[in-house]
Amino acid sequence: MGDSPIGTVGVIGAGTMGAGIAQVCSQIGWEVRLHDALAGGVEAGILRIEEFWSKGVQKGKTDPKMVDKWRLNIIPSTLEQAVSGSDLIIEAVPERMDLKSDIFKSLDRLADENAILATNTSSLSVEEISRSTQKPERVVGMHFFNPVPLMPLVEIIRHEETSDRTVDIAKYAADKMGKTSIVVKDVPGFATSRLGVVLGNEAIRMLAEGVASASDIDTAMRLGYRHPMGPLELSDLVGLDVRRDILNGLAESFENDSYLPHPLLDQLVNAGDLGRKTGRGIYEWNAGEKKDRDDLGM
Ligand code: NAD
Repeated sequence: MGDSPIGTVGVIGAGTMGAGIAQVCSQIGWEVRLHDALAGGVEAGILRIEEFWSKGVQKGKTDPKMVDKWRLNIIPSTLEQAVSGSDLIIEAVPERMDLKSDIFKSLDRLADENAILATNTSSLSVEEISRSTQKPERVVGMHFFNPVPLMPLVEIIRHEETSDRTVDIAKYAADKMGKTSIVVKDVPGFATSRLGVVLGNEAIRMLAEGVASASDIDTAMRLGYRHPMGPLELSDLVGLDVRRDILNGLAESFENDSYLPHPLLDQLVNAGDLGRKTGRGIYEWNAGEKKDRDDLGM
């Protein structure tokens, strides 16, 4: 692509993902207009970004003079300010179709003619989101991973009507953000979530069958298959509730019961054992350290 098609980015939602996306865009030198519906939401997001930068400065990895420049690139904005005049708008609000559809209606109305509209959904249909706009060809998925500043992948989700130009700009943006992008069809679970949750569910089945302890199943994949983290540990990190919902979504979309969460996964979620965030999931968690539970597995 020739001259930069992006100078200004609007980010809608300043939570875990939106703040991370805003941070990375600000470090490129793009103007980032950050919006959140919650009072104090943008400030909380900026605080998390500042904490990330401070740690980098403390460790000697980040130049404080650069931080002074980057922070000027982030502008707290109303929805209209974030959208109007932006070349790329990235939506990162909670994973609810009604919410995303409403937002895309507004984005479509407020965005410049040539702007492209991206959603960071991790499981919803991008095509369905695009239906609330007049120009579905400019709607694309840009699925980032948590934490955004550190994770090197972006899944670009192209639905039936997404134009080549839109995909090219999404790829360009991901590349500028230092990420490797892959282009995926708009199918449930895209490429990452589908494989990730199936592996996790099978590992839970093995645990329930007493094949090995949780930590041994994880070690099998780390050392035998060079996965940086085992599937059970990863499930606890992501949240067992999140993983269960994705599996149920896949089973429904593909009309295939083999995707259904294993009963042990349902049982853990129903008991409120959601993983690291609640201190207990497949493992017991204490100050970031995990240990096998006596009541699960071998
Ligand atoms: P989050 O709850 O941390 O942040 C969402 C933010 O959106 C909140 O600050 C909330 O106040 C704000 N918000 C709610 N309604 C809004 C509205 N109408 N307009 C503007 N802002 C609004 O959620 P998150 O974890 O950042 O997830 C956001 C999206 O990213 C979801 O679609 C999720 O599936 C996806 N995602 C999350 C992860 C992850 O690991 N957290 C990874 C990949 C993708």
